Amino acid sequence: MNTQDNYPCAVKVSEQTIKFLSQYEVAPTPINFSVIYHYLSKSNELLNQYIDEYISWHGSLDAVFIESAFLEFFSTTDQLERSLLTPFEQTLSSTMEKLQTQVDNGNEIASNLQRADNVLAKSTRQASFKPVLKFINATLAHSQHQHQELNKELAETYQQVKQLKSQLKASRDEAMLDALTGLYNRRGCDEKLKELSKESTHASCLIDIDHFKNINDSFGHAVGDQVIQKVAATIKEHLSSTDFAVRQGGEEFIVVLANQTKKDAKSFAETIRIAITKLRLKQKKTNAYLPPISVSVGVAEYQESSTWKSVFEKADSALYQAKNAGRNCCIVM
Ligand code: GH3
Ligand code: MG
Ligand code: MG
Repeated sequence: MNTQDNYPCAVKVSEQTIKFLSQYEVAPTPINFSVIYHYLSKSNELLNQYIDEYISWHGSLDAVFIESAFLEFFSTTDQLERSLLTPFEQTLSSTMEKLQTQVDNGNEIASNLQRADNVLAKSTRQASFKPVLKFINATLAHSQHQHQELNKELAETYQQVKQLKSQLKASRDEAMLDALTGLYNRRGCDEKLKELSKESTHASCLIDIDHFKNINDSFGHAVGDQVIQKVAATIKEHLSSTDFAVRQGGEEFIVVLANQTKKDAKSFAETIRIAITKLRLKQKKTNAYLPPISVSVGVAEYQESSTWKSVFEKADSALYQAKNAGRNCCIVM
């Protein structure tokens, strides 16, 4: 559907977007709105595949996922750096090198001229050359000065480009993290997975807070957010330097344990599960304790021939079994 220059069509898709977002209880913020607007106008086939896959897997949508779709399909920082800044930086650097060579050549000519001037100073017979030499010297000095000024300006621009690149890098790093918990988001997860060796065995835990809806319903969304932060912090505390954790949806987390088997992951998952049952959270406003929190965990293993998608699907099936088994437990598949 092309909504670009069709007013009634754009209004219709806008209305559908609001309806769609409210169906999944997602706020119509600019980011959520743009992603779902594009999704419903079917303007990008890959975006639609990305979202459809998530919905068919999870049966729902949330703001964390929509933000990851935004970064994946609408963020232009990578493109900006690749297509503009890096080539510009290279051109600047080579222009500065060429200019410097010219300045060096000019210096050599100037010192030769100085030598010629010294010779002429000793000879009264060739006095007529002196003004010519003086003129060449002045022209050369002028051109040297211009080159140096230009080089200075280019060096400043070069520094600005470098600064811009490092700002872009910082914002890209930030874009890999979930704002609420500081864990990686889905995009960060994709990047981190690329760093893992495909030949090794790794393991993954899918952790989901039990009956989280009750916490939101009884204590409000803000308290729910704080519970998510506490659970995330507990997971983080137990990570080794080679593991990483991801907030992959509302109250759902992935932990990837590099170079570890599902047996190691099961004992990690048990440690986390027990630590979470021991959390005693107080509601600041009333000073009353929240009911104990628990998580269910599904564990699966990555082996040489696996794809990460299949591992997460396996962990999701294990998690589903853990929920059916009464929650607050870990199941390995
Ligand atoms: P189960 O034990 O089966 O996992 O039950 P549950 O209630 O935890 O399951 P469900 O997935 O149905 O509920 C998750 C809820 O989390 C639904 C949604 O409103 C809420 N949620 C999603 N994202 C956020 C968020 O960022 N903050 C808060 N406070 N709630 C969120
Ligand atoms: Mg849950
Ligand atoms: Mg859930």
